[in-house]
Amino acid sequence: PADIAHPVAVAVAVAGNGAVLPLASGRPDDWFLHDGQITKRAIRALTLSALAPRPGEMLWDIGTGSGSIAIEWLLAHPSTAAIGIEADETRATRARANAVALGADRLRIIEGRAPDALADLPDPQAVFIGGGLSDALLDDLWQRLSPGTRLVTNAVTLESESLLARRHAAHGGTLLRLDLSLATPIGRRRGWRASHPIVQWSITR
Ligand code: SAH
Repeated sequence: PADIAHPVAVAVAVAGNGAVLPLASGRPDDWFLHDGQITKRAIRALTLSALAPRPGEMLWDIGTGSGSIAIEWLLAHPSTAAIGIEADETRATRARANAVALGADRLRIIEGRAPDALADLPDPQAVFIGGGLSDALLDDLWQRLSPGTRLVTNAVTLESESLLARRHAAHGGTLLRLDLSLATPIGRRRGWRASHPIVQWSITR
């Protein structure tokens, strides 16, 4: 039809009127089943940007939780691969279900604890630590990963923040602090509600 060239007509013709999964990383949290332990949308968008998926690459998502990081890595390109490592059985099952529901069913889930659970896995090009951050885990990864592997981790506690500050001093990389606030009602007016600051360390091995 003549009016199909109109952008809205094209969008409806392609996508229909139902809920449509957006193309960019940082998809709304409610696309993922979760129990509250999920990397929130804006932080997730910046995390995927730092992980920087490229065609054919493999991610390890350590402490995959709902699987949101690994799933967005997989949605970035059909040739990518991802392994989610998760210690909690209920979350591992939920991550698998999220991957299937969102069209990223090539997500492989390993139920177990890092670093032990990493021993037999194929080498990744990028690693995200979403849970289980410790000096022991970073030492293990530093030994194990090939030069050129990208590592990204987010800290929310003072303890993990100081761990990352020490690693940044020792190895370099980029330390980024994310202080996000959302406008929320205060009576009939509005005010900023601050989130916990997140410190993100990104480094190429
Ligand atoms: N990025 C996730 C949220 C991670 S919450 C998301 O967006 O959904 C941190 C997760 O790490 C929890 O599910 C916890 O069970 C898991 N975890 C903590 N220590 C771990 C370890 N050593 N190995 C594997 N998983 C671990």
